[in-house]
Amino acid sequence: MAEKNGQITMLHGAGGTVMHDLVKNTILKYLGDTKSPGFVEVPLNFLDDAAVVDDIVLKSDSHAVKPIFFPGGDIGRLAISGTVNDIAVLGAEPFALACGLVLEEGLSTADLERILRSMRDACVEAGVGVVTGDTKVVEKGSLGGCVINVSGVGRRTEALEKNMLVVKKFRKDFQSRWILDSNLSGGEKIIVSGTIGDHGLAVLSAQEGLSFGSEIKSDVRPLNRLILRLLEEAGGIVAMKDPTRGGLADALNEFCDKSGVGILLEEGKVPIREDVRSACEMLGLDPFEVGNEGKIVIGVVKEKAEEVLTLLRSTEEGKDAEIVGETNVNFKGVAVQTVVGGKRIIARPIGDPVPRIC
Ligand code: MG
Repeated sequence: MAEKNGQITMLHGAGGTVMHDLVKNTILKYLGDTKSPGFVEVPLNFLDDAAVVDDIVLKSDSHAVKPIFFPGGDIGRLAISGTVNDIAVLGAEPFALACGLVLEEGLSTADLERILRSMRDACVEAGVGVVTGDTKVVEKGSLGGCVINVSGVGRRTEALEKNMLVVKKFRKDFQSRWILDSNLSGGEKIIVSGTIGDHGLAVLSAQEGLSFGSEIKSDVRPLNRLILRLLEEAGGIVAMKDPTRGGLADALNEFCDKSGVGILLEEGKVPIREDVRSACEMLGLDPFEVGNEGKIVIGVVKEKAEEVLTLLRSTEEGKDAEIVGETNVNFKGVAVQTVVGGKRIIARPIGDPVPRIC
């Protein structure tokens, strides 16, 4: 485990190799072989976006963004969206949420109500409610106002069954009942649902008081309804992730490691807003490593890629979607075809360059 004097550092929460090492070598060491009386179809050690127990998708996610209000969103909207999206990317429909609030002494009740209102709005957008929860208060310190945990459950839908039938039409060998990181095989297309890096840069601008000439807003939003439409109306989706901490670079490497394939990405196809691109250049950040909260990366059978793309582009959330690359069994890892004609490898980032973004 990469560590400083045997202590946890900010990098341990930044979504890259250091965090993955902590999870694999320390957390899984103790919790990885705990037994549940239910049938665990997607267990903890898969390290997928959520687990599957007795056909229920289960997810828990704590949100510790700093500051708690940022352009385009706040910790409340983030907490609901983050958990809803992690359940939805397995192909499930979220149907109930639990919320644990840890409030810091000194947080104003006006701010708390603003956060709760925002949580309610996100619940309405997602069509799912908070059904249980807990509230704790801690002494004034470094929490930055509050930390919010949202856990949730999701279930199978007819849309998911339909999607899997479409997949099996083109991949006779396909076995998985859920949309998992490990499902990709060769010759499949990779789609990104929109511009990358917006969320990380919006949070960074609020953290540092930076202005990038135009206001870069977070993309944070629940995507479950969009995902349900993709499964229902197009289908053929085998793998899906929300590229949060560690950004697109981490999400694609996760696909490659778990599926045992390579991904060849076309650099020029990856949608990036001009202001995000120039802000990244100015700050020396790689937009591929910056986190997103309202985007999905999709692996789809090649025969259905255009249909998924067209459907995405007909929606507000997916209007900037692009097919950015394809899987290849002849190499491992993520390779990028650059705009100038060369190739470079995109390694898994050590951590997201922006701290505390979710
Ligand atoms: Mg996720």
